[in-house]
Amino acid sequence: MPQHTRPGPICAHCDGFPQVAIATGQTTLDGQRHTITADCPACRGTGRAIPARAYARAER
Ligand SMILES: [Zn+2]
Repeated sequence: MPQHTRPGPICAHCDGFPQVAIATGQTTLDGQRHTITADCPACRGTGRAIPARAYARAER
């Protein structure tokens, strides 16, 4: 059996990037762009997809 080390199923909604920075159009006092971060609603910022088995187990 081949063993591939993977962190787990990646969220298809955000493709593994659960947090994105959104520029507000304003600048901070330092002169940098003011950004806010938004979490992926599908995986709630974890970046991992919830396996279907979890739902099946929850059903019973
Ligand atoms: Zn996601």
